[in-house]
Amino acid sequence: MVFMSMDIGRELAYLCARCRSTIRSVMKTLATAWLMVITLAFHADPINQVRDDVTPAHPAINAKYHAYLPVSVRADTTVFAVIGDYGSINGYEALVASLVKRWSPAFIATVGDNNYPSGAAATIDAAVGQYFASYIYPYYGTYPYTPTVAINRFFPALGNHDWLAPGAAPYLSYFTLPGNERYYDIVRGPVHLFFLDSDAGEPDGVTATSTQGVWLKNQLALSTSCWNLVFVHHAPYSSSTHGSNTFTQWPYQAWGAQAVFSGHDHTYERVMKNGMPYIVNGAGGSALYPFGAAVAGSAVRYNTLHGAMRITATTSTLTMQFVNINNIIVDTLALNGRCS
Ligand SMILES: [Zn+2]
Repeated sequence: MVFMSMDIGRELAYLCARCRSTIRSVMKTLATAWLMVITLAFHADPINQVRDDVTPAHPAINAKYHAYLPVSVRADTTVFAVIGDYGSINGYEALVASLVKRWSPAFIATVGDNNYPSGAAATIDAAVGQYFASYIYPYYGTYPYTPTVAINRFFPALGNHDWLAPGAAPYLSYFTLPGNERYYDIVRGPVHLFFLDSDAGEPDGVTATSTQGVWLKNQLALSTSCWNLVFVHHAPYSSSTHGSNTFTQWPYQAWGAQAVFSGHDHTYERVMKNGMPYIVNGAGGSALYPFGAAVAGSAVRYNTLHGAMRITATTSTLTMQFVNINNIIVDTLALNGRCS
């Protein structure tokens, strides 16, 4: 009797194993079929073919991939937000996030320090995803999100706090970005955005003649966009606590950029150099800093309340505004570009 039950037990275990393997193979077939449906749908509708993972090597290729982007991304006018030094998981970050989301921006760009205090894997989802999950794609975090399109709409730059984690590993695994993900470029509507990594940990260097510097120079030379905007955490010019960083004072204008956005100092400041704005926009959530003596060219300084930048780009005009959390416009600058 005992032997018989053991036999039945073994038989059942064998049948169960067969059963599990059959279920697995059916699931696999279904998944493959679903993948084929998705692939066919994307091929049938080139508008949904998102190729911003490709860093174009040539303007013609640039134009080709640009044509595949969704209409919202290819539009002649785009409104986007820029936030900086924001990832502090506090009420100010929440207020800045709700301000920015009220603008329904096409995408959000950052100027670094996305994850205080130390760029850790344990805090990154609370610092970023808690407020911006719906803009991140693919999103692997735990906060509720409602992505409207299967395309990333959150483009961060690395800051020194993100690099406090060895190799900036949590940041690099959390975000899915083009190129090497540390410095990269994207085209959105009439705007070409270049995100740099200004931390000393950057393996390709942080000077104008480094591998990263040469990359920027070459990519700017290839750009056919109306607007070329650079995002770099360490401010080239600033009148606040950290002050100006000479190592990020690259010849951006000579290389073809029209504006530089930065953070690191927790203020808003617009410094004009040879008619080009160098903006400090580090008032996104972390405690605000005081100002010292104004640097040459400093046109606007503000550190009363937190806020963010709203950028409206058309083929002819780039309008840059800093708006505080009370929805008051603190600064507006409009530029006429090379397409006007
Ligand atoms: Zn910083």
